Amino acid sequence: MLGSAGREEGVPVPESPLSILPAVFAESPLSVFPESPMRAVVAGGAGFIGSYLCTALADRGDEVHCVDDLSSGSEENIAHLIDRPGFSFSRHDITVGLDVPGTIDAVLDLASPASPKDYLARPIPTLEVGSAGTRNCLELAEKAGAVFLLTSTSEVYGDPEVHPQPESYWGRVNPIGIRSVYDEAKRYAEALTFAFQRDRGADVRVARIFNTYGPRLRPSDGRVVSNFLDQALTGRPLSVYGDGSQTRSLCFVDDQVAGLLALLASGCSGPVNIGNPEEVTVLELAERVIALTGTSSGIVFEPLPADDPTRRCPDISRAREMLGWEPRIPLDEGLARTAEWMKTIVA
Ligand code: UDP
Repeated sequence: MLGSAGREEGVPVPESPLSILPAVFAESPLSVFPESPMRAVVAGGAGFIGSYLCTALADRGDEVHCVDDLSSGSEENIAHLIDRPGFSFSRHDITVGLDVPGTIDAVLDLASPASPKDYLARPIPTLEVGSAGTRNCLELAEKAGAVFLLTSTSEVYGDPEVHPQPESYWGRVNPIGIRSVYDEAKRYAEALTFAFQRDRGADVRVARIFNTYGPRLRPSDGRVVSNFLDQALTGRPLSVYGDGSQTRSLCFVDDQVAGLLALLASGCSGPVNIGNPEEVTVLELAERVIALTGTSSGIVFEPLPADDPTRRCPDISRAREMLGWEPRIPLDEGLARTAEWMKTIVA
């Protein structure tokens, strides 16, 4: 009988954190530790997190080839990189194939709509990019002998019964619900990545990204931080869905990118949760945004979308132990930095 964490009930939990890791997590003797300077291909590099990752790689001297179809990313996100030596960009849909000539040390797959508004508007392309798109990235990495990093998601845990969520939890996803186009695409992408590792000896890393925010979030992307800041700064009431008792744990984008780079440089396949365990209810988040911006527009309660997870918080023990990483930027500081940027956009 399996318990909710996917472990046999009644079986004692081993004491060592390392001994509970699945075999795929163990450091592989074949693993390459890509060292900077290197050449990386970043699929989805013009997206929100992707553009920060491209910047961090370029800043440390890596060559970066960014591939993006600009369906949810934008050229604005990478405008500061476009003239930098060693940076190149191609507008391309990775679901139709992916061929990048030359030496490649790492292929980083961040290509997917990630806000519920975006993936609900493009359900089939979302499934395609997590399946065909990820496969094309894996095959490019295989051909080039490069390390492959997949950015998966906390959505693989669905509406979780285990809290906080460790990587060993198998999740509770509605496989046919509206969010399934994203959740199941990422679950498939993880399955495909580990099949490539087991069957074809691919050198892989899988990060499970929890809610991430920061400057460059599109005010119109429908996410909670973008909506609340946009509403507060334009004098509209903050739209809290449901009663606002659902929780999220928000990671500032600089911390997220540091976690992804630590995972890439490690010999760990993962999956590894990369997120901030500072958990807040959505209502509390609204109150913090109101306090931060000084808006007097108040809160309006709106219906809770279908299958909206009731709580979400990463257990980041594995990232702490295996990567020596943890987030540094507290929510209030990150919100203030994001608000400063959002002011320049909505002005
Ligand atoms: N949410 C909200 N008001 C908004 C946007 C989102 O109350 O204007 C809630 C949403 O219902 C969810 C949480 O905030 O419970 C986070 O939503 P988001 O779309 O940012 O990402 P999710 O974690 O659901 O993928």
